[in-house]
Amino acid sequence: MNLLEVKGLTKRFGGIVAVNSASFDVGKNEVVGLIGPNGAGKSTLVQLLMGIIKSDSGEVRFNGKDITRLKAWQVVRQGVAGTFQCTKPFLRLPVFANVLVASSAWKKPGQNGEASMGKAMSVLKKVGIPHLAKLPASQLSHGDLKRLEIARSLATDPRLLILDEPFGGLNYNEIELLSDLVKKLRKQSEEDHPTENSGLSMIIIEHKLSELMKIVDKVIVLNYGEILAFGTPEEVTKNEAVINAYIGEEGI
Ligand code: ADP
Ligand code: MG
Repeated sequence: MNLLEVKGLTKRFGGIVAVNSASFDVGKNEVVGLIGPNGAGKSTLVQLLMGIIKSDSGEVRFNGKDITRLKAWQVVRQGVAGTFQCTKPFLRLPVFANVLVASSAWKKPGQNGEASMGKAMSVLKKVGIPHLAKLPASQLSHGDLKRLEIARSLATDPRLLILDEPFGGLNYNEIELLSDLVKKLRKQSEEDHPTENSGLSMIIIEHKLSELMKIVDKVIVLNYGEILAFGTPEEVTKNEAVINAYIGEEGI
C-alpha cells in the first residue's frame, strides 16, 4: 500500500477546472516533485490534499484511510503537513517560541509542556538552526526562515511534508543548503525507519527544475489541471509532451 493514493481528484472554480481527474501515488519515504506552468493547478492540488479546500469529486487515501472529506486540522492529525509559498512566522517572537506554538498545538495525547519544548528543540536541530533558537524570527535570513517554516511543519509529526516553492526568493547558496536539508531529512527517515510503518515522504512544488530534479525520486507534471506525465526525473525530462508544454527545447 502506498502512503498517499489519489484517484480522480477534480476541483472547479466556476468555469475553470483547476484540477482535472488527477490520479497518482506517493510511496513511503518517497520524494515527489510537482511541476507545471503557472496556473496549472499545483497549489490547488496540494490544498486539496491538505483539506484546505474541498474537491468536487475524487478520492484521497492516506495510510489506507479515506481523508477526502476531513477538515484541514484533521488532515494534519493524520500526518500531512504543508508549508506555503509565503512564510508566516510570528516575527517578534523568538524562533524557539515559533516552533513551540506548533509542537504544543499538535501535541500527542498525554504530551506535557516539557515534552513539547523538547520536541520544538529537536525539530530545530533537525533543520539545522538550534543556534538561532533565541533570536526573534524577524532577524533570520530568508533561507533560515524557510528552515523555521519546515521546523514548524515537522513539529506536527508528519509522514507527508508538502513544500510549495521552497526555493522561491533564495539565492544559489541558500538553495544548495535547503536541498541538502531535504536530502538529509529523507536519509534520516530511511535510517530511522527502514521497514516500519513510519518515515517521511515529501511533495515539493518548484519551478527551479535543475535543483528539484536532484532531490526527487519522481515528478508529476501538471498542465491545465491534468497530469501530463508522472515518472522519474529522467523519464519526465525526455517526455515530448512535457518538453512542448513546459520545459522547452533548451531543456532544464
Ligand atoms: P499553480 O499553483 O499551478 O500556479 P493554481 O492552483 O494556483 O496554479 O491555479 C490553478 C487555476 O485555478 C488558475 O487558473 C487559477 O486562476 C485558478 N484558481 C486557483 N484558486 C482559485 C480560487 N480560489 N478562485 C478562483 N480560481 C482559482
Ligand atoms: Mg502555485
